[in-house]
Amino acid sequence: MKFGGTSVANVDRIRNVAKRSLETTKLGHDVVVIVSAMAGETNRLLGLAHQFGELPDAREMDALAATGEQVTSALTALAIHQLGGKAVSLLGHQVRVLTDSAYTKARIKTIDDTAIRTVLKQGAIAVIAGFQGVDDKGNITTLGRGGSDTSAVAIAAAIDADVCEIFTDVDGVYTTDPNVAPAARKIAKISYEEMLELASLGAKVLQIRSVEIAMKYGVRVHVRSSFDHSEGTIVTSEAGMNDLEQLTVAGVAYDKNEAKLTMRGVVDQPGVVAKIFGALADANISVDMIIQNVGATAEGAAGGTTDVTFTVGKADLARAKAVISQKGAEVGMKELRVDDDVVKVSIVGMGMRSHAGIAAKMFQILATEGINIQAISTSEIKVSCLIAAKYTELAVRALHTGFGLDKPAA
Ligand code: ADP
Ligand code: ASP
Ligand code: MG
Repeated sequence: MKFGGTSVANVDRIRNVAKRSLETTKLGHDVVVIVSAMAGETNRLLGLAHQFGELPDAREMDALAATGEQVTSALTALAIHQLGGKAVSLLGHQVRVLTDSAYTKARIKTIDDTAIRTVLKQGAIAVIAGFQGVDDKGNITTLGRGGSDTSAVAIAAAIDADVCEIFTDVDGVYTTDPNVAPAARKIAKISYEEMLELASLGAKVLQIRSVEIAMKYGVRVHVRSSFDHSEGTIVTSEAGMNDLEQLTVAGVAYDKNEAKLTMRGVVDQPGVVAKIFGALADANISVDMIIQNVGATAEGAAGGTTDVTFTVGKADLARAKAVISQKGAEVGMKELRVDDDVVKVSIVGMGMRSHAGIAAKMFQILATEGINIQAISTSEIKVSCLIAAKYTELAVRALHTGFGLDKPAA
């Protein structure tokens, strides 16, 4: 049972988590609880770190950020005690959630189930701090924003849990963010593949990596509300159990976590983009959308220049700027422009493979709303457009309506 930030936001809600996990033990289950930090706490901690510079040391950032979950795991255990139950809190290193050393975005290598099983054998609930792990040298690491989902699914796989319940502030996975588009519809069952696509396009209800792990190890995931007992959304491999595949566009997602960088006037020659993106890769910075404009002069002509635009995660922006400012000189860059006031809106659906004109329809819907498109990327089952952040709600709602996803009016 994983409880996100809003589900442990204050003392009353932590009591609710304790009550809910005890109810589950009373049904005869062994229970492992994974908790996030209190809502807003991780942002607060990272904000503190940034008081000490634009690029704070990543190792110390993780040591700091991990404290949010240390607090809630201990408090949740105390809340269970107060209700007469048994519980033991465990931090990442006490479980031994072993990760690589990529601070702030570490990947789990192995999870030792011994400590967890010892707690369960005592008839107690194991309350584990999500989001955190430890590398092979004993350094504290964190798994990237939203990483408690990944802790939960990976722990569920390691202990062969019957189900991994993700308790959050919405009662399931919707056709788009229900907090942005009230007409969004709840999806009863969704395949790992579709969930992966939605998550990777920004539907933060599940961290991408958690869906990858669920898919790889066949973990049954149930996304549901921590505020009521309604059925949420089941994420499984069973195909054909939802009507999404019949729909050309199954969902709309948005991602405010990207920033756009434009390198103006770089030399238009073979090897130039290889150099730029090689340097970013060496710095472990993932690039998402890329556009290289047509050069101003004939292809390959001496002295020709071009512009290269790309997006990176906002968390990597400061480092990306540093890398590009340095490498840019080597490729003749005249100017670097940065815009982090952008959002990527996407439509996704398996049915897009066999339908022409979906991208065109998306562009038309945005155009009708007067929204300018700054970058585009497509794959077989999605189309993404980068637009100004202020149009997020408008674009998501217009696309949701335009592709026939709205729930019938009550
Ligand atoms: P938690 O703190 O519980 O991990 P998150 O804020 O990380 O919660 O994720 C839940 C949020 O995800 C919801 O409040 C909702 O705004 C957002 N969200 C985005 N896309 C979707 C979607 N397709 N379905 C449901 N929720 C979504
Ligand atoms: N507390 C972490 C975050 O805010 C992890 C999580 O909530 O899943 O990103
Ligand atoms: Mg989350």
